[in-house]
Order: sequence, then structure tokens, then C-alpha cells
Amino acid sequence: MTEEAIDVVVVGSCMTDLVSQAPRLPRAGETIHGHKFFIGFGGKGANQCIQAARLGVKTAMVCKVGKDFFGDNYIQNFKDNGVYTDFVGQTSDAATGAASITVNDAGENAIVIVAGANMLLGREELQKALPAISHAKVLVCQLEISPQMSLQALRMARNSRVKTIFNPAPAIPDLDPDFYKVSDVFCCNESEAELLTGSSVTNVEEAHRAGQELLKRGCGSVIITLGPQGSVVLKAQESTSKHIPVTAVTAVDTTGAGDSFIGALAFYMANYSTVPLEEMARRANQVAAVSVQAVGTQTSFPFRHNLPAELF
Ligand code: ATP
Repeated sequence: MTEEAIDVVVVGSCMTDLVSQAPRLPRAGETIHGHKFFIGFGGKGANQCIQAARLGVKTAMVCKVGKDFFGDNYIQNFKDNGVYTDFVGQTSDAATGAASITVNDAGENAIVIVAGANMLLGREELQKALPAISHAKVLVCQLEISPQMSLQALRMARNSRVKTIFNPAPAIPDLDPDFYKVSDVFCCNESEAELLTGSSVTNVEEAHRAGQELLKRGCGSVIITLGPQGSVVLKAQESTSKHIPVTAVTAVDTTGAGDSFIGALAFYMANYSTVPLEEMARRANQVAAVSVQAVGTQTSFPFRHNLPAELF
């Protein structure tokens, strides 16, 4: 694959999820027996990249993993999903990002995240990826790497007139205002919208208001995802705020639903540039709705062949 052929570039995180299921969460100093253990691929950046790739667009991941078993495994996972891996760096200075997750029988969890190698993704790697970023159709960033690197990547894309999607997750209260200015689409969930605006966002009406507030900060458009209520879409050039409902399904596991939505949105923006953003959000809603009907994060993300033809 040549760099010119890459349509979606994601600059972001990779995390290995180490999940233990146990009857209850252990107390400090206690060792208990669990009944199931599994390893999953996660990290918001990687999740979004994998979802876009599964829908059938050429994608590249720009990230950093450790020179360790989990890093090697993650690179193989990208390759298995057809993601271009030349910009996946490996370092001996930190371990691959990992999330140790314990889930009890009531579905509650206790999680320790060690970002590790993700925080070492730096200017050098971005510079190496610049030819791919500047020739892409869409660049996607989140906040699980150093925020300055995300901002830098978004600026690089903007300088080359590449469309940008910024997902301010996990949300930070003192977000650099420049993030809004370099976002063609600023896409977040309810809790992120709440933290960024300081207003409650629990329903469609409140999402419309929060979206208007975010739009004023300088982004091209705002999408707020609302779980079973779908999403709202606001565009700077129009004064309307549109609710895009989704047919609610019985969710088995919503982990990664937002990442599935954003990966799908990147796919649509790269392939259907003339389709209105509202229609892209409608289709991304449907892709994400499929993901909540199966367990796991990337394991639940649909491939193109799992989806109805009307979405393409
Ligand atoms: P998570 O943090 O669990 O990864 P999120 O909070 O970032 O998810 P949500 O807003 O919960 O993201 O969900 C993203 C999208 O997934 C929604 O906009 C919607 O399209 C779809 N979705 C989520 N839950 C359901 C559901 N029960 N039925 C149908 N679609 C759903």
C-alpha cells in the first residue's frame, strides 16, 4: 500500500485490555479468585481506526506501543484488520498502554489504566507520518495521547486541507481553545459535552444547547452522541440543530459504541464527501447500534458485509 492510497489516518492510542471477571472486586491487600480472564484490543484511537478499516477504507494508524509482547500483538491486530502500520512506533522506554479491568457479577468494574508508550508518541513520529496525513481525506484524533500531539496532528491536517474529526475523549476541563478551531467535526458524548460546557446534557434538548455552545467556540460542526437516542448534529453554516434518532436496540455491551460511531463517521467522510453530515450521522448511528449488540470492544465492531447495503 502506498501512502497516497491512505484515506483515513488516525493519530491516537492503543491499549491492551486485561479483563478479569470475579464474583466481587477485591479489597486493598486482598487476593481473590476470578472465574474468567480475557485479553482485548482497545484504546480509543485504535478502536476508531479498526472500525473505519472494517467498513472498507484504507486506513493508517499513527501511534506508539512498547517493544513487548502486547506491542507485537497489537501490530498484528492492525495487520489482520488491513490497517497500514508503518507509523506504529515501538519503544523500549515504556510498556504498551494497558487497562487492567476487574468486573464483578453485578457488572461494576474497577479499572487501572497505564497509558505507557502512548504518552511517548511525539513530534518525530508525526513528522514521519506527515506525507500520509497531508494526502489523507480525513484525520481523526482523541485525547488518550499527549494533547499537544493531537493538536499538532490536527493542525498538520488543516494546513493540507484534510478534513478533521476531533473526539475530546477522555474530556479534560481545560481543553486548549485551539482544538475547536482545527476541528471540522467536533464529536463527543453526553458526559464530555457536560464537562466541556459545564451544563447538564442528559436529553436531546440539552444536547442542542450544549452543541450550540461548543459550535460558538469555532469548530465547523458538532456531533453529540446520545446512546440509544442517537445523536445531534449542528453545523456552523446553518443555524439548525438536528436530532438524528436511531432505532434503539437491546444493548448487550456498549463499550466502544462511541468509537464505532466515530470510525464509521470517518469512513463516510472519506468516501461520501457530498452526502450531508446528518445522513452520515444517521448511518454511523446504525453501525454503532450493531456494535452494542455483541460483547467486547473491537470484537463487536461490524464489518461491511455484516451491514445492510443501504448504508453504502
Ligand atoms: P462508550 O463510552 O460506551 O464507548 P459513548 O458514551 O462514547 O460510548 P454513546 O453515545 O453511548 O457513546 O453511543 C454512541 C452511539 O452508539 C450512539 O450515538 C448510537 O448511535 C449508538 N448506540 C448506543 N447505544 C445504543 C442503543 N441502545 N441502541 C441503539 N444505538 C445505540
